Amino acid sequence: EDRILSGEQVGDDSSVEYSLRPQRLSQYIGQEKVKRNLEVFIEAARMRNEPLDHVLLYGPPGLGKTTLSAIIANEMEVNLRTTSGPAIERPGDLAAILTALEPGDVLFIDEIHRLPRSVEEVLYPAMEDYCLDIVIGKGETARSVRLDLPPFTLVGATTRAGLLTAPLRDRFGVLSRLEYYLEDELQTIVMRTADIFEVEMEESAAVELARRSRGTPRIANRLLKRVRDFAQVKGDGVISLSLASQALEMMQVDPLGLDHIDHKLLLAIIEKFRGGPVGLDTIAATIGEESHTIEDVYEPYLLQIGFLQRTPRGRMVTHQVYHHFNLEVPE
Ligand code: ADP
Repeated sequence: EDRILSGEQVGDDSSVEYSLRPQRLSQYIGQEKVKRNLEVFIEAARMRNEPLDHVLLYGPPGLGKTTLSAIIANEMEVNLRTTSGPAIERPGDLAAILTALEPGDVLFIDEIHRLPRSVEEVLYPAMEDYCLDIVIGKGETARSVRLDLPPFTLVGATTRAGLLTAPLRDRFGVLSRLEYYLEDELQTIVMRTADIFEVEMEESAAVELARRSRGTPRIANRLLKRVRDFAQVKGDGVISLSLASQALEMMQVDPLGLDHIDHKLLLAIIEKFRGGPVGLDTIAATIGEESHTIEDVYEPYLLQIGFLQRTPRGRMVTHQVYHHFNLEVPE
């Protein structure tokens, strides 16, 4: 079942997302610090007529890493090649991609932490010296040959920088962490999306959607899309505040943008572990979810809004959670 409040790409997101992606840095909303830095680095690289340094983008899913990689290619006026860690299985796969690049191109590797180790090792000299070391022949007659590559920019994306091995992380010149978006930024994003969809929306409805989108543009756009369907079928096509609220209620998105899985997770900690601390694996087993999904997808937002705390002995819920569920805070 697709989870509507997951920042990860699900269902029919990809077809819509393509048309919603801003093309230039100036159209990319929010992430001011990241943008300011990239602006300078891009301009400097262009002045020197060199490729941009390798960039690592990290942060929760749906915050705009893929979008930013396309913007970097646009701003540098070069081609973008897109792939992902799990898609590159053998060193030869990576060699094929690298040798097909044109000078200055941007190679985007999503989920770069999932590259096999053997592939990662090919990437080191490619990033550092724009060359490939390949072994020709077998046994006694085997010898290593160095192949020159066109200079290129690697843009890697991952949910957490800590998932990368140190040698890989060290080879990126620019490390940019994407943050959850502020409510007014998300409001701007949904209003822009409504314009592209050519659907009329009350400003108060945009505020409400922004508030319930867990700081994540992908979720904001997805909620808008479902609310738009609702407006078409149940209303007169205009997205009013009351219609948006009703639709969100029906989708079981609560006023803070939490859904039944968040509720299950938080209530399990309260009811089964007296509020914690409790280890991640124990929580995962209790609610029947994968530990890494909890850690990468559900938990970051709960930490961000101060509902969860990480302690050396495990996760704990905060008093705010008891208030949110109208429960009495224990001694
Ligand atoms: P990620 O690669 O981090 O998972 P994406 O780049 O695929 O995220 O972005 C998901 C969706 O959110 C896209 O449809 C994109 O248009 C939208 N989006 C992301 N960041 C922004 C932004 N800063 N301004 C406007 N739209 C954005």
